Amino acid sequence: MSRSAAEQAEIEMAKRLKKKQVVDERIAKATEERGVTILLTGNGKGKSSSAFGTMARALGHGHKATVVQFIKGRKETGEQLFFGQHPQVDFHVMGHGFTWETRNPELEKQAAEQAWEVAKRALADPEVHFVLLDELTYMYKYGYLEVNDLVTALAARPAHQNVMMTGRTAPRELLDSVDTHSKIANERHAFEGGVKAQPGIEW
Ligand code: ATP
Ligand code: MG
Repeated sequence: MSRSAAEQAEIEMAKRLKKKQVVDERIAKATEERGVTILLTGNGKGKSSSAFGTMARALGHGHKATVVQFIKGRKETGEQLFFGQHPQVDFHVMGHGFTWETRNPELEKQAAEQAWEVAKRALADPEVHFVLLDELTYMYKYGYLEVNDLVTALAARPAHQNVMMTGRTAPRELLDSVDTHSKIANERHAFEGGVKAQPGIEW
């Protein structure tokens, strides 16, 4: 015997209420108030731009932020031109050394260590509410920095501080330590379709 439309609607409503109850219970359980560590990896586009978008959110709430970009691009990026001017942002781009175009391991290691000193200072500063370590994970891939130093600094940071880190891949120790990890997959990219990289989208 088939159900009447009224019966069906009642079943649907009961299902929805049950779902809401489960969600409400979860919300009630998430009571801890503290900063989080967020890692964005994967081959798809959207890691750095998501991190800068989140930083805009934090700035909107009056939070102070520190940015360290661990890879220096060929061009000045829109994020540096924009956020570098912002009174709540301390913006650093890793000095000479690592670019996608030139490789000089000795100089790169030196530059990575200097940039890490800046990052470490921010991770210990309770005034800094948001820390963005962009393209950081490559430094571990190339053996320029020690991942245990990062994990230790993250664990010891001020309780309310939020940290976002990006890079295509990340070492196991970091993957295991963060609160949130999202992996952005590449389904398609305009570049593969022959579209030239452009300001405002790529950099
Ligand atoms: P975005 O800064 O745009 O958020 P991203 O941080 O996820 O990108 P990166 O690996 O840092 O990506 O690469 C930066 C540059 O490479 C950007 O210009 C981006 O558009 C481009 N890019 C990212 N993913 C791809 C891809 N799958 N194919 C081609 N180019 C890509
Ligand atoms: Mg990036």
